[in-house]
Amino acid sequence: YSKENGRNCFSFYFEALKTDSNRVLKLDSELRKAIENREFTLVYQPKINTVTNDIVGIEALVRWNSEKLGFVSPAEFIEHAEESGLIISLSEIIFDLACEGNHKLVAAGYPKIPIAVNVSSIHFQQQSFLESVQTILERNNTSAQCFEIEVTERTVMNSAQETVSKLVKLKQLGFKLSIDDFGTGYSSLSYLVRFPLDVLKIDRSFIQHICSLDDKQAIVDAIIQMAHRLQMKVVAEGVETSQQVELLKSMGCDFIQGYYYSRPLPMKELIDFIQFWEVEHQGRI
Ligand code: C2E
Ligand code: MG
Ligand code: MG
Ligand code: MG
Repeated sequence: YSKENGRNCFSFYFEALKTDSNRVLKLDSELRKAIENREFTLVYQPKINTVTNDIVGIEALVRWNSEKLGFVSPAEFIEHAEESGLIISLSEIIFDLACEGNHKLVAAGYPKIPIAVNVSSIHFQQQSFLESVQTILERNNTSAQCFEIEVTERTVMNSAQETVSKLVKLKQLGFKLSIDDFGTGYSSLSYLVRFPLDVLKIDRSFIQHICSLDDKQAIVDAIIQMAHRLQMKVVAEGVETSQQVELLKSMGCDFIQGYYYSRPLPMKELIDFIQFWEVEHQGRI
């Protein structure tokens, strides 16, 4: 019996591995085709100023609806793109789409709302990163002032010296700079001080239980104080309830992003949302 069980166990494990590697193979070949055919779109999620209610920016998030695989989450295909080197061409497609998004925003009358683009650490670390981004902006007739670049805490913690000089150059070009997923990557304070960052985004994992867990509250409170001392603005990510909004406001959090205000939307719907929002709050952006 035990032998039999052992074999079943093994073959079960083997089957799981096989399905897994089948998935990776399919993902790989579909992703290559998708990049060739540029089958990606961007959706945009607004960030709201907690004091003025202005929309201070929107974050671009990539979407891929594959003919064969259906909807694939960015977490899955970005990771695969990073491991296979496809991320460089994918990043260029994403930047191109973000430039298109910017043209649509300008045409709709909102030239001052910057679009935040997530940058993969693999792309960021390429020697040609700055050049490739500049080329894309020029090709699309847009300027760095219209964009914000989101790098994750993990990206900037990799190699301090090179990172500092790259960030400084991006800043000189006119990009706003954000550090994404803050709190998940063991960053060193001494690095943080040296980076010319404008915005710190507190990871959703801290926001999720902020109303029920005192330790999460203490951490978020401390991060906000620290960021403000370093002249950075703070975005809370993944905000879903009015209780979270109220608590974050009371802690002095500058901006809020999350389903509570809006899910990420296609540009057309996002523009409708902005128009609705302006009427609702009778403010100008
Ligand atoms: P991220 O940059 O931290 O993006 C925030 C994620 O949280 C997005 O997931 C967004 O849809 C989701 N989100 C926003 N508000 C809420 C909320 O209230 N509740 C919950 N539960 N979730 C919320 P998404 O679009 O699935 O993206 C996941 C991650 O994939 C991103 O995390 C980013 O790291 C990566 N990613 C997405 N788009 C791109 C891209 O264009 N380029 C690169 N390099 N990475 C991207
Ligand atoms: Mg982000
Ligand atoms: Mg994040
Ligand atoms: Mg994230």
